Amino acid sequence: MGEQGPLQFDPEAMRDIGHRTVDALVEAIAAIESQPVMCRVGAPPMRARLDAPPPAAGRPYEEVLAQVFADVVPFCAHTGAGGYMAFIPGFPTWPSAMGDLIASALMMDSCWWAGGAGGSQLELTVLRWFADWLGYPATASGILVSGGSAANMTALACARERRVGAMRDDLVVYVSSQSHSSMARAARALGFRPEQVRVLPVDRSFRLRVDVLEQAMTADRAAGLVPLAVCANAGATNTGAVDPLPALADVCTAHDLWLHVDGAYGAFAAITERGRSTLAGIERADSITLDPHKWLFQPFECGAILVREAEGLRRAFEITPDYLRDVETHDEVNFSDRGLQLSRFCRALKVWMSLQTFGLDAFREAVDGALDLAQEAAARVAASAELELLAPVGLSVVAFRRRPAGETDERRLDAINLALVAAVEQTGEALVSSTRLFGRTAIRTCILNPTTTAAHVHRVLDIIEQTPLDTLDLGDGTHASVRREPDIVHGWATSPSVAAPDVRWVPLFAAMGAKEAADLLTRAAERRLEPGETLIEQWDAGRDCFVILGGTFAVRDAGRTLATLQAGDLVGELAALDWGAGYGAVRTASVEALTPATVLVLTPEHLNEVLRRSPKALDLVERIARERQAQGR
Ligand SMILES: *Cc1c(COP(=O)(O)O)cnc(C)c1O
Repeated sequence: MGEQGPLQFDPEAMRDIGHRTVDALVEAIAAIESQPVMCRVGAPPMRARLDAPPPAAGRPYEEVLAQVFADVVPFCAHTGAGGYMAFIPGFPTWPSAMGDLIASALMMDSCWWAGGAGGSQLELTVLRWFADWLGYPATASGILVSGGSAANMTALACARERRVGAMRDDLVVYVSSQSHSSMARAARALGFRPEQVRVLPVDRSFRLRVDVLEQAMTADRAAGLVPLAVCANAGATNTGAVDPLPALADVCTAHDLWLHVDGAYGAFAAITERGRSTLAGIERADSITLDPHKWLFQPFECGAILVREAEGLRRAFEITPDYLRDVETHDEVNFSDRGLQLSRFCRALKVWMSLQTFGLDAFREAVDGALDLAQEAAARVAASAELELLAPVGLSVVAFRRRPAGETDERRLDAINLALVAAVEQTGEALVSSTRLFGRTAIRTCILNPTTTAAHVHRVLDIIEQTPLDTLDLGDGTHASVRREPDIVHGWATSPSVAAPDVRWVPLFAAMGAKEAADLLTRAAERRLEPGETLIEQWDAGRDCFVILGGTFAVRDAGRTLATLQAGDLVGELAALDWGAGYGAVRTASVEALTPATVLVLTPEHLNEVLRRSPKALDLVERIARERQAQGR
């Protein structure tokens, strides 16, 4: 061995370092089940441990390793633990971790064929497996990306490039209220404004309503807009709901829309028989998002996008600058032509190695086991006097809540269930998360890890069902709904003029403090309407919310009157409540003045900003929204 450069070790030292690292890892993994699933710690102690400039001179690797296991590792949630059922769990198989080590140690590049035929072929191979599992034809292929978010963005970019080319103001994309926030982020990054993304309502099973989709599309076409794509869910994050894929495929075919299916959480259920039948129709999508770092047990980061006509990806992304002329090929694939990344890590290696080592049957057994446990959990919830399901079980997600006998106060139920989520975390044995379904707080368990057993599931249900209510910290009874920085939505606002009548008699204003009421008023506009004039047009993309100061309005769906509204009522609040990144629900009904009328116009930005400071008013608005959602309007 010749002389070492400044950043090298001799082979003996490399072996020693490798062994020490593996030993430490095996020990840490063996200890996971005896440690708290989650370790929350604030910023100051972490800064104290780790915030330091780099040393000019190094120190022994053993010391560095020891510090990692003392100051970093203990402060990472154990997403692969048996008790981890929050959000979307993630269990990394050991051969996959070794695959990442190999790919990193050798700097395996999967950007271009000539420089990485091995990794590129592996990627083609695993993508072919995925395509086969989902029933995709031979023309389908795709690319491995960092995760579901990157896959959704890649899919939307591909849809736009294939169907229309450059970004335009008249394009419209349809998502459901259950779509993942990464869809909104992708739309925003690609230049879609909020009025170009229709957030459509769902049915009682949290599935996108095909009838509403068709009506919205027809209305948009009539308004001169161009429907581009439908983004459906194959396992929505909230409830695991699978949208009616065959019906959506029919609609998309009939109207020539791109159908994208977000299967980041759910698509790998297709390796089981049950999953395959639940996901039937997914093979008709134009593109599909998958996340191997979720239900295929790969370490972060590993997402995937499959496109039915793989050629579409290349056409959407290929650019060959002068400095890359040498890499042009004929029938080989340069993965840098299929997505946003040029230099790329070899993500396929871990997927391939883990499947080769365990075999597909072992993966199938793990996914099936999770589906079984979710059914077992749901059966217990359904049989319990104190627990109730808030959504049908979707794949392996169970959304439910505790409802003590006789308790009907929704606000108190919210507080009880949030406190129970915290109580589960406090045991250190498990972690569940909460969400909101039709405005109600739900406890959400997502069962995914092969480490999760029936004992873990029943322990969690025991805690939630049996913790005495008087031991829970219910806080001040207000729930922690999402608080968004005003800056994030800033820039999406229209700016109304000012009006300041005395409005303390209006329930919304009565529910807030004098200062908040004044703040809201100074930024509101006043509008007068004649009888027969329309305040809200069905399918309109506006997001303003209205307070009726005088007059009567009719709420209509395709001519049928659903309700009337009077002075003091609030209307349009569903669109104003923020679904994410400035997007709100579509108007599913029209509102028309029956008499001369006066309304206050509130922009969603200002309304949300004031509601953040007025828990009681927020509660009122959410209660109204909840009741209207429950009535399906
Ligand atoms: C997790 C998830 C995403 C985002 O995936 P990341 O890998 O976290 O970027 C998108 N859609 C759905 C349905 C998901 O569950």
